[in-house]
Amino acid sequence: MTSFESTSTYPLWHDSAARQLAFENAPAHAEVDVAIVGAGLSGLWSAYYLSSAEPSLRIAILEARHVGFGASGRNGGWCSGFFPLSVSELAAVYGRDAALLAYEESFATLPEIEQVLRREGIDCGWHQGGTIQSASTALQGERLQRALEQQHASGLGVGDAEWLPSGRVSEHISIAETHGAIYSRHCATINPYQLVIGLAQVLHQRDVTIWQNTVVQSIDNGVVTHRHGRVVAKQVIQATEGYSHSITQTKRRIVPLYSLMVATEPLDAQTLGALGWRNRATFNDGGQMVIYAQLTPDGRIAFGGRGAPYHYGSRVRERFDLDDQTHRRIVAAIAQHFPAAAQARITHRWGGPLAVPRDWTPTVMLERAHKYARIGGYVGDGVAATNLFARTLVDLLLERQTSLTQLPFINHCSPRWEPEPLRFLGVNSLIALSESIDSYESSHHKVPKLRTKIFEALL
Ligand SMILES: Cc1cc2nc3c(=O)[nH]c(=O)nc-3n(C[C@H](O)[C@H](O)[C@H](O)COP(=O)(O)OP(=O)(O)OC[C@H]3O[C@@H](n4cnc5c(N)ncnc54)[C@H](O)[C@@H]3O)c2cc1C
Repeated sequence: MTSFESTSTYPLWHDSAARQLAFENAPAHAEVDVAIVGAGLSGLWSAYYLSSAEPSLRIAILEARHVGFGASGRNGGWCSGFFPLSVSELAAVYGRDAALLAYEESFATLPEIEQVLRREGIDCGWHQGGTIQSASTALQGERLQRALEQQHASGLGVGDAEWLPSGRVSEHISIAETHGAIYSRHCATINPYQLVIGLAQVLHQRDVTIWQNTVVQSIDNGVVTHRHGRVVAKQVIQATEGYSHSITQTKRRIVPLYSLMVATEPLDAQTLGALGWRNRATFNDGGQMVIYAQLTPDGRIAFGGRGAPYHYGSRVRERFDLDDQTHRRIVAAIAQHFPAAAQARITHRWGGPLAVPRDWTPTVMLERAHKYARIGGYVGDGVAATNLFARTLVDLLLERQTSLTQLPFINHCSPRWEPEPLRFLGVNSLIALSESIDSYESSHHKVPKLRTKIFEALL
């Protein structure tokens, strides 16, 4: 059994960036044009595009802990053009044109981010090697192929996502067992903490104020009440993602779901040779339980997975970042897919909450009359989406008519999650079911019909 005794409990990404930037707490009273709650990528990108468009705006970011404390500083580093909902799922709700526009803009977000990195001199190891979603079983293969056909029927091009038969998957990566894979070029890898810190430094140079250790308690008509006093603003933007349940406006709007990660030591040349991970495409599979991996520039596997328990009342606590059982499952998944790396030492393990809206649909919400805006609800696909949604919000705030202001997510209001204890039972049942469906399928080579029906009904 894997022992985590000598494993660091910080995200790997923190090793290669200044751990924290020195910003002050908020004063007892302040007045600004725009107050942003949350110094993750949503908040930082919003400040970046607002200050680019209107340099004279007085912008302040209020952060409960420190810049990049949340998911933005600890994620898997996939900068992916894909949403949690596929183009056909979006088309079913918003129509084909709106769904395709959303995907076009999301794909175009990758070159946009790359351009900003170059312009601002932010080095976060950007590498666009694409992504591989491999079928670990024949059943997954059928399902992935069917899903891809639906995407193509909804207008996604073969150049956006294509099917690779099992014999061609090794052109990208050697996986122990594959029944084919979907390959897409629309994914890059980054060190997410370096991105967050780099953006915060750019904002600091622009005189955007960042207050750390400043827990916001309420937002009301432009008045932001926090632990040390209050800030009065002409416009407030809430960007608190997985932590949003604690703020009145967003009670029960999201469920904080924990995603956990491990990182191996840098692999030796022989192991890397056996993995054949040629262009460092990101990797996941077609199971119900989400897993995700990237090969870092220094040759480590950073591997993540969901499946950690949901905590009653949508509680978020630092101790929930570590869950031995889930971390062991992730280590086992490395050995399953990449046996050559099975003996690699695990040097880091960590985790954090991401935000799941009831209908899995993110939002850009602007209530001008209440001086209130909110972006988020990205599920596990927020790295690129934070940039897209921040640009969209800025266009809305500045009353610009652009293709972004036609996006289907604007003012989308997801239904509230069920009250407890239903929420606790429902979410943990979903987690347990996805794991049990995967293990039944791989041992019995058929779909457990009843479990799948319950799973789909709960979603
Ligand atoms: C382990 C993990 C792996 C992931 N992997 C990927 C991936 O590979 N690719 C991908 O696209 N997405 C991934 N995600 C999701 C992605 O990281 C998030 O969607 C994205 O970072 C959200 O950014 P954000 O700025 O909206 O939220 P966050 O980065 O969570 O920032 C919110 C900030 O608000 C602050 N805050 C909260 N409440 C208050 C308050 N009351 N007062 C003041 N401040 C407050 C928090 O401290 C936090 O810093 C992952 C998430 C996790 C947890």
